[in-house]
Amino acid sequence: MRFDILTLFPQLCDTVLSESIIGRARKSGAISVNLYNIRDYANNKHNRVDDTPYGGGKGMLIAAPPVVACHDAVLSDRDDPCRPESVYTVYLSPKGTVLDQKVAKRLASYDRLVLICGHYEGIDQRAIDLIVDEEISIGDFVLTGGEIPACIVVDAVARLQPGVLAGDECFEIESFSDGRLEYPQYTRPYDFRGYTVPDVLLSGNHAEIDKWRREQSDKLTAERRPDIMGDASRPAKK
Ligand code: SAM
Repeated sequence: MRFDILTLFPQLCDTVLSESIIGRARKSGAISVNLYNIRDYANNKHNRVDDTPYGGGKGMLIAAPPVVACHDAVLSDRDDPCRPESVYTVYLSPKGTVLDQKVAKRLASYDRLVLICGHYEGIDQRAIDLIVDEEISIGDFVLTGGEIPACIVVDAVARLQPGVLAGDECFEIESFSDGRLEYPQYTRPYDFRGYTVPDVLLSGNHAEIDKWRREQSDKLTAERRPDIMGDASRPAKK
């Protein structure tokens, strides 16, 4: 899958997305991440991209022309001109659909995700109306820019792509995958500061282990996220 990030701070995203699992996935070619500086598409002497909002108000707004010009250039760059790609353009915005695992799965179904990062007070509404398919928020709070939200979307979506995680089952049995929070997990040592591992996990009885994990998942979900419990009435995946 290909990710194209349009931003005023490409280095910020590149640094975050060059480490660990996502960095390795980029190197192996399981995903590709391309970064574009919106400033390169400003059509003026000082490469200025922002201006004061009409009607007054504090702060600056990123103007529509450089954002749309950058988007046009990105879309004209095709990986395989012989194959129609499914492309989806997202503007990271606190006003958007709140990201959750279902949204991440839906976004993972596209060949290419174009992510537009706002900054300052955001971007001119006409750019959003012209080129954006969906606005996505990472939660009900306001950040200084869309770069960290874009990296979060790339991370959540990329790890659902084949070849990114060690095994696909990793995301089939984790929190939210079946409407439950994941059960607690333990590794060596058996006894850590007097806290021991639940004996059932050492029993070798896989039916009992599955049953214990299911009960723990249900308990945790009911305690912490009763709002998603409706989805948990289905049997958990093994
Ligand atoms: N004036 C905007 C408002 O009140 O909705 C907030 C602009 S915010 C300071 C600057 C940029 O950060 C936004 O254009 C957006 O790209 C990004 N941003 C801030 N909070 C976000 C969130 N919760 N989810 C996604 N993007 C966010």
